[in-house]
Formats: sequence, C-alpha cells, structure tokens
Amino acid sequence: MKSPVLPRNPLSGPPFHPPVFMNILPLPDAGRRLDHFVAQFSALLDERPAEADLLARGGALLAALVARDDWLPAAFARPRPERYQQYALHVDARARFSVVSFVWGPGQATPIHDHTVWGLIGLLRGAERSQAYVRSAGGRWQPRGAPVTLLPGQVEAVSPRIGDVHRVSNALAGQPSISIHVYGADIGRVQRSVYLEDGTRKPFVSGYSAPAAA
Ligand code: FE
Repeated sequence: MKSPVLPRNPLSGPPFHPPVFMNILPLPDAGRRLDHFVAQFSALLDERPAEADLLARGGALLAALVARDDWLPAAFARPRPERYQQYALHVDARARFSVVSFVWGPGQATPIHDHTVWGLIGLLRGAERSQAYVRSAGGRWQPRGAPVTLLPGQVEAVSPRIGDVHRVSNALAGQPSISIHVYGADIGRVQRSVYLEDGTRKPFVSGYSAPAAA
C-alpha cells in the first residue's frame, strides 16, 4: 500500500507518521468528523505521552481532520470585519485540551503573542502566515527565521519547549482563511501575554468568540 504524503511540521522538523491503522479504518461522515477527532485526541491524551510524541501523533490526527474541508458548521466559519474570530469547537471536560476555529478576514493578524501550553495549528481553508519571534539579548522581540505559510492540510506546532512566540496573519488579501487549533488547556481562559517588538509585555486572556448567527 502506498503511504500517504504527509504535511511537514515547519517548526519541529520531521514529517508526521500516523499509525497504520488510520489508513484502514473507515472515514467518519462529514458531520461526525470533529467528534471522531475529539475522541481520538482524548484517547491519545489518556496515554499521557511526552510532548514530542503528543505533537507528532496529535499533529497526524489534526492533519487528517483538516485534510477535508466539509465539516465545519457555518456559524464557526464566519469572519467579522472588526477582528479575527476564535470559536470554541470543543473544550475537554478536564481542560486537558481545547479545539478552536480561527477565522481570519482579509488583512487580519494577531499581535506577537505566546501560548504557555503546547498548540497544534492545522490549516483548513485559505492560507495563513506565521512568523516566529525570539527575544534578543537586549530584550526586544525579533523575527526568528523566515515566515511559514500554511496551506490547506498542513500542520505546525508551538510550545514553550520548541518555540512559543509568534505573530499570525491571513496570508490572503482578498478572502477569509480558517485554521483549526488544538491547545493543551482551555485556551480561552489561559493567562498569557502579547508583546510589542520593543519587549513590552501585556497580560492577555483571549476568551472565545460567540458563534455567528445562522
Ligand atoms: Fe498563536
């Protein structure tokens, strides 16, 4: 059997290798794809894997979820002109993880920010640009390497261990983009930070956007 071509995780390097059983189980119906993903991710966390293992195997699950763009309800896919939206799709009952759809209108971007927990970002629709930042000896934040552009089906990872500070923007000037994020906490409630390039830090709790009316 030919092995699938898998997206590369631009931040942590090696390609994801999903276990073979993923290739022989039947795909869930579109309406159950998210439920299936949540159940698989929850089972993965039950194993208490080390972070590198979690990001590799969880990244493969997320890559499978965003490989098909036929399951995200419209209420969680709608951009708003004021700012990017972050809709909670699932929050684990024990806050071990949360799943969020980020919806970018044309030209929208985050400030430089951290997460404080591991995160996986899978591109569902459009294109998204992520620029990693590193703190210089003088305390300023400066770009680390070239920006990464995520395309549909691709996944990247962040964490305090592998690099946690970045700035993200819609890579498309004329249309919305949507990415599905998974974080190692109820991310809407996490105390974290946004930064200015001069090193100024501002405390930040993101919350979640209210789902759009149908
Ligand atoms: Fe982020």
